[in-house]
Amino acid sequence: MKKISILGSTGSIGTQTLEIVRNNDDIEVVALSAGSNIVLLEKQIREFMPKLVCVYNEQKAAQLKTAVSDIEVKIVSGMEGLIEAAVIREADIVLTAVVGMIGIRPTIEAIRAHKDIALANKETLVTAGHIIMPLAGECGVKIIPVDSEHSAIFQSLQGNQKSQVSKLILTASGGPFRNYSMEELQHVTVADALRHPNWSMGKKITIDSSTMVNKGLEVMEARWLFDVDYDDIEVVIQPQSLIHSMVEYVDGGIMAQLGTPDMKLPIQYALYYPNRKWLGGKRVNFAEIGSITFFKPDKEKFRGFALAYEAGRKGGTMPTIYNASNELAVSIFLEGKIQYLQIVELIEKAMNTHKIIENPTLEQILEAEKEAHESVREALKLVTV
Ligand code: NDP
Ligand code: MG
Repeated sequence: MKKISILGSTGSIGTQTLEIVRNNDDIEVVALSAGSNIVLLEKQIREFMPKLVCVYNEQKAAQLKTAVSDIEVKIVSGMEGLIEAAVIREADIVLTAVVGMIGIRPTIEAIRAHKDIALANKETLVTAGHIIMPLAGECGVKIIPVDSEHSAIFQSLQGNQKSQVSKLILTASGGPFRNYSMEELQHVTVADALRHPNWSMGKKITIDSSTMVNKGLEVMEARWLFDVDYDDIEVVIQPQSLIHSMVEYVDGGIMAQLGTPDMKLPIQYALYYPNRKWLGGKRVNFAEIGSITFFKPDKEKFRGFALAYEAGRKGGTMPTIYNASNELAVSIFLEGKIQYLQIVELIEKAMNTHKIIENPTLEQILEAEKEAHESVREALKLVTV
């Protein structure tokens, strides 16, 4: 029996993970956690009977405790509670599906507690990859990607020599605005940006996909997961989202992983690696698809994508500035308080004024996060005055 703790169980990845648990009888949930959605958490508790549940919001945690007082389950809250869920003794594997940098500390503590990590929470690796990857090595912990592109690369590496890789090729759908002009991008609304052509995901990552900041974060995520130089990570637009990513080897041979766009496959693969299990759902029908097309990403139009390479190459605290300014800018955009194109302007502005700290500690990463948030707030004061 495999035992799993899920960080972010009420989200898009979290609920799809629970679908997999529901469909298999050799996997058991021992801990769940979420930010504040206690209505869904209560349902999940009653169905999956975990030992421990964390609600980040303290008040909501107290409410949940009352609601499930008829059940034997420990309810905790805050960062301490999130860490308790991440290190729970019974878990073999922790699936990190919280959104944003909030995932850093629980992920580090889970690794220290020798839990394997099924990693969806890319912001953690982008900002603290230089701490997490060596720590995982020291602790003998596997970090198995859940992000579809990285899962595809991970799958395409199986049975081959890592030293014989010549480059990674990440695919991107290009998002809903691939063919928009700059003029059209200026008028994008929240509702427009939340309409992704191929994938159904949480709000933050859906906005990130539309700006191509998501692909930028994924380039940095790949740099840490697979230990490759930025020069050896290429991105190609493949609008059908059929090829999930590829690896080119020194002899020119390319291995790819294909499938219908469904996150349940990479989630299940991460949970059962190296085994594959039956999974229902639509199969690829090549004749029906007809053609697969490829395009170069437009780095001028999608400046947030180009800035990610810049932040990654500069390294140190710069990826944190890139990520944290984006996290705040996206949440302000979702509240309808700024224009779409301002998201990337705010990232660029925060990056321009930042003095990089090389090889930052966790505290310095969290300081850089605050600095990026201040930069965004400051810029908006100037704009709205
Ligand atoms: P969602 O917004 O759908 O879900 C986020 C989850 O995190 C929710 O369970 C939410 O709880 C929880 N959460 C938010 N804040 C806190 C907090 N302070 N403490 C504890 N839990 C918290 O996001 P997604 O599932 O879309 O994405 C999760 C991660 O996976 C992201 O890093 C994303 O980039 C990555 N990812 C997602 C993919 C997808 O298809 N969705 C694909 C590839 C990667 P609550 O509901 O209570 O707010
Ligand atoms: Mg992805």
